[in-house]
Amino acid sequence: METGGVSPQPSVQQPLGSGAGKAPEDDGGGGKGSVDGDATSGNPYARLVDDLRAAWLSGKTRPMEYRMAQLEALGRFLDEKKQDILDATALDMGKPPFEAEFSEILLCKNELHETLNNLSHWVKDENVDKTLVTQLDSAFIRKDPYGVVLIIAPWNYPVNLLVGPLVGAIAAGNCVIVKPSEMTKNTEKLMAEVLPSYLDKDCFAVVTGGVQETTRLLENKFDYIFYTGSPSVGRIIMTAAAQHLTPVTLELGGKNPCYVSDSCDVQNVARRVAWGRFFNAGQTCIAPDYVLCSVVMQEKLLPALRKAIDEFYGPNPQESPDFGRIVGDKQFQRVQELMRSGRVVIGGQTVEKERYIAPTVLVDLQPSDPIMQEEIFGPILPFVIVANVDEAIDFINSRERPLVVYAFSSDDKVVNQVLERTSSGGFCGNDTLMHVTLTSLPFGGIGSSGHGMYHGKFTFDTFTHHRGCLHRSMGREALNALRYPPYSPQKLGIVRAASEVKRKGACTLL
Ligand code: NAD
Repeated sequence: METGGVSPQPSVQQPLGSGAGKAPEDDGGGGKGSVDGDATSGNPYARLVDDLRAAWLSGKTRPMEYRMAQLEALGRFLDEKKQDILDATALDMGKPPFEAEFSEILLCKNELHETLNNLSHWVKDENVDKTLVTQLDSAFIRKDPYGVVLIIAPWNYPVNLLVGPLVGAIAAGNCVIVKPSEMTKNTEKLMAEVLPSYLDKDCFAVVTGGVQETTRLLENKFDYIFYTGSPSVGRIIMTAAAQHLTPVTLELGGKNPCYVSDSCDVQNVARRVAWGRFFNAGQTCIAPDYVLCSVVMQEKLLPALRKAIDEFYGPNPQESPDFGRIVGDKQFQRVQELMRSGRVVIGGQTVEKERYIAPTVLVDLQPSDPIMQEEIFGPILPFVIVANVDEAIDFINSRERPLVVYAFSSDDKVVNQVLERTSSGGFCGNDTLMHVTLTSLPFGGIGSSGHGMYHGKFTFDTFTHHRGCLHRSMGREALNALRYPPYSPQKLGIVRAASEVKRKGACTLL
């Protein structure tokens, strides 16, 4: 297996469709691997951003037919390059083909089809309520594209988390720069070399590179930035965006609690938790990060988890074709370090040269242990003991707000109690990960797990400026005269009556 490299590669920018490997110096910048040197602005990406802005201002991306054609082309990329995607993600992180097809292709195609099926409705002007004064006018919300938008993607679902937002950005009529993660080299290469041949090079571009390149890219003014990644880098993105007052969506991570009540079907819970935790070798932003349950439930869940892991991956998960690998050496070391907390009761084996970490369960943990302080992002499931649901809720509420809260119970009241008394980006009762499969649900974080939301229509809305428009008639000036000076109490009375929004149900006798 090839290691997902961590060293920054020479910066590459390319308009989609123009072929791969065009470095900044081709546009007048510095040498290959360098990110400085544009003759006019000093920024190697300035010309690219300018070109995309010119294309956007030309109106090329606005017609429905154009957007639909680009989206259909994106669909062809997913269909025709399916095997290349499976191969690239397998090389990058040993992603099992089933998991890759489900998470990288099927979910993206769902987003695409949802958008193609509904775009003609979503783009329409929305007429809104009017006052007496504006009754004869036209008041509507125009669905305007933002302009030139930047999408920065992470490595854990390197196709899905790049193509998913791209669907909405194209649908909304924007020009787009996508920046895949430099960690997953094979997928990055595929995106840079193959995706371009499917889309309009005047309006869509791939920029590759790591921290240095992304830092320079972010110096440019974008009209929207959509970032998926860690909270620490999220702060850097938001700071860069603030320089230009650019709005952002931040899809971040954190620790997702998974409460299991004493009343549940233990084996079903074990299977659903194990699937969510060990899918993609635990490198999923919405994976259940730790289990909260009573001592009694822990004693029942441990053998059930052992059984589930054995059913899923056989007696030696290292040999299973259905269990992935850690993306890089640095990440491997980090996750291995976290395993020093508590006591290993299932798994615990590691093989450094393969970046293999067995599905692992830990017990006897303290909330202050390192593994309980940071997002695990690996195939390790720690247990934290709580006396009851109230204590679980207090534990959850004493920490940063997670991307998702999971609650398992045969008693719906318990699930609803956890839902009502906690706050998180999303929620899933009696299962893990499955809420992300619905294009009808908004997906996003809250607080340190993120800002903004997407999926389905929410992605279109994210990349759309909802422009409030009022189009009045040139005549009827007698009516307008009532609001002009010289003012009088009589005029104010009429203006109030004609423009007031009345409180519904209020007693009018008083
Ligand atoms: P990361 O933040 O290290 O990198 C993400 C992107 O940011 C990459 O493209 C990278 O090149 C770029 N980047 C990294 N450092 C940068 C810097 N200093 N300046 C500018 N750009 C920089 O994240 P990652 O390791 O790729 O992904 C893991 C994190 O992403 C986890 O925290 C996970 O929870 C989170 N995540 C969240 C979601 C979600 O939908 N909320 C989905 C997947 C992953």
